[in-house]
Amino acid sequence: MSQKYERIVVVGGGSAGWMTAAALVTGLKGRATVEVVESEEIGIIGVGEATFPSIRNYNQLIGIDEAEFLRATTGSYKLGIHFCDWLEVGRDYFHTFGHFGNLYGSQTLWAQHRRLGLTEPLGLQCVPTVMAMKGRFVLPSEQQEFKYAYHFDAVQYAAFLRKLALQRGARHTLGRIVDVSRHADGNVAALQLDDGRRIEGDLFVDCSGFRSLLLGGTLAEPFVDFSHWLPVDGAWACPTERAGEELTPYTRATALEGGWAWRIPLQNRTGHGHVFSSRFIDVDRARDQLLAQLDGKPVAEPRLLRFKTGHRRRFWVDNVIAIGLSSGFLEPLESTSIYLVQDAIARLMVLLTAGRPLHENDRALFNEGAVRRFSRIRDFIILHYCLTRRRDSELWRHVSSMALPETLNFRMELWRRYGVLHEYDEEGFDATSWLAVHAGMDHWPEREDPVFAEVPPELAASALRDRRAAIAASVERMPPHHRLLQQVLGR
Ligand SMILES: Cc1cc2nc3c(=O)[nH]c(=O)nc-3n(C[C@H](O)[C@H](O)[C@H](O)COP(=O)(O)OP(=O)(O)OC[C@H]3O[C@@H](n4cnc5c(N)ncnc54)[C@H](O)[C@@H]3O)c2cc1C
Repeated sequence: MSQKYERIVVVGGGSAGWMTAAALVTGLKGRATVEVVESEEIGIIGVGEATFPSIRNYNQLIGIDEAEFLRATTGSYKLGIHFCDWLEVGRDYFHTFGHFGNLYGSQTLWAQHRRLGLTEPLGLQCVPTVMAMKGRFVLPSEQQEFKYAYHFDAVQYAAFLRKLALQRGARHTLGRIVDVSRHADGNVAALQLDDGRRIEGDLFVDCSGFRSLLLGGTLAEPFVDFSHWLPVDGAWACPTERAGEELTPYTRATALEGGWAWRIPLQNRTGHGHVFSSRFIDVDRARDQLLAQLDGKPVAEPRLLRFKTGHRRRFWVDNVIAIGLSSGFLEPLESTSIYLVQDAIARLMVLLTAGRPLHENDRALFNEGAVRRFSRIRDFIILHYCLTRRRDSELWRHVSSMALPETLNFRMELWRRYGVLHEYDEEGFDATSWLAVHAGMDHWPEREDPVFAEVPPELAASALRDRRAAIAASVERMPPHHRLLQQVLGR
């Protein structure tokens, strides 16, 4: 059956709901009504403070000015993530959104670095990594191209988008949904609110968070569980006053006994959290370990969040499409939830603006695309764990010995045997990101490609030395992150 959607109802007013509503009112330009229904009583999850570079595309597409956005969300710039203690306690690396470059055309730089047996980090050949290590930031230019993302206050971000969506014509209904009625063909007809109001629609975007009110609840779509590979299932979150370190232009992820701790710097405070697996560590012990990590005075009591990693088998069923936590959650290690939200919105917008009724086939393709994206990001996140040399706790013994998904085995095998970083279309993380983690986890191909030996070693060594020195010198001239940010904010 083909369908046209003229009344779109967004269920939920967290960041997923308002990102969806803002994009729909902007892109559909009055061709459909957009109504957001949310319960203030239930509230929003309010974590999710680190992002992926695609957020800039989203912001540009809906016409958000960067300075205004950073002011409204007390945001800061993010060049990547600093991983501490993942390979071994005391070892660290950066995964930034930057390239490591080529040496002599197709002579891949990492291979020359490796062949020469250099012990310094490969990251010294990557501009944004050196910027992150030095706490510097500039906006990219024609001479200096790199990707970046943001840290921000998730509650302020949802409020910022709400204001923008309402200004552009979205409707806002406050109330708790207590029942859902369906047509005879199974499509959702209307939402029933606790005060008796009834909200009808043609398309329902389920952004109801972990409750997954429509897709998981009303339509009972099964959950595909990833917890045997990604066993974390809880997090303690606790913001602190800003103290100590400068405003770092990166997130920090420190591996702990039963999980890992995040540190996310904002203009006025620092976000801290401990993501853990209750299979491997007691909840109270996880809380104590978070408190021991704090580098400032807490500004709130630690808050416990529970979750399961995985996704709904289908994301779009009948006239219900789930976006955000209602569709699934991987875990926050690579800050990919908001990216997945924006990616789903972009694919939905393409269909809704195609100017034709939608068919079952459109839904099927949408669902296949979503499953592919979740599995590829799942594999990338598992890579951070499975290459560990840590054996000091149950968690690390488990992740270093567990059977991996076939798709990940294939990619690791290609790298290990042939030095190939296989990249698919529609890839969230490109080959550079995979290389950053392989290099950071000291995981290299077993043999050298003879092609790399065509360059005389002295020549390769001096080229690497010159490049490293040029990068170091150019980063030295860049302002500290906090100074550049103040300039952008106009302060
Ligand atoms: C520990 C943790 C850390 C995270 N860190 C990151 C990160 O660094 N980067 C990142 O990209 N993402 C992160 N995320 C994910 C991120 O928080 C979410 O993707 C994002 O906030 C979107 O959430 P949401 O809008 O789907 O759900 P929510 O914010 O939970 O919103 C759900 C909405 O549905 C409404 N609702 C629910 N039930 C009803 C009802 N019966 N009636 C009416 N309204 C209802 C609620 O009121 C609310 O408005 C993290 C998540 C967790 C758990």
